[in-house]
Amino acid sequence: MLAGMTREPEQQTGGGEPDGYQRLWTPHRMAYIQGEGKPTGPGAGDGCPFCAIPGQGDEEGLVVARGELVYAVLNLYPYNSGHLLTVPYRHVADYTDLTVPETAELAEFTRRAMRAIRAAAAPQGFNIGLNQGAVAGAGIAAHLHQHVVPRWGGDANFMPVVGRTKVLPQLLADSRAAIAAAWPA
Ligand SMILES: [Zn+2]
Repeated sequence: MLAGMTREPEQQTGGGEPDGYQRLWTPHRMAYIQGEGKPTGPGAGDGCPFCAIPGQGDEEGLVVARGELVYAVLNLYPYNSGHLLTVPYRHVADYTDLTVPETAELAEFTRRAMRAIRAAAAPQGFNIGLNQGAVAGAGIAAHLHQHVVPRWGGDANFMPVVGRTKVLPQLLADSRAAIAAAWPA
């Protein structure tokens, strides 16, 4: 198990069945919107964090693995521990903008991310997806990034995770090291 993987007791916040969609995609969007890494414009030179991360060290940038055309990085504002993003190095916004080789490596990195997270943290399931456009929930819509979110039973309430922002940096460093060590060659 990853350090910091212990979860809060399941909390009931309302009646009915949980709607995983809103809970899943809202928190990191809000964190990015309010965060310091918000780009000033849509271009690659407008402070895009996904263009800057590959130039940082693995620990500093929370990079888990580097490929030829794409890389994997921990989400700075995770919904769950081990929440990864697979990202093309190239500053493109839309899935249809990817070349065939980029598409293939993005898919392969998603598979490797699942294997690594399974080895490191034994999740019971995953949410994997692309938010295309700000209207669809993309916090940084100008640079495509695919979410790989491990899921465990009882993790539906994100507030305890988001609320622990002061201890998250250490947890992220531990998570990065564990998943990077488990990354398939
Ligand atoms: Zn970019």
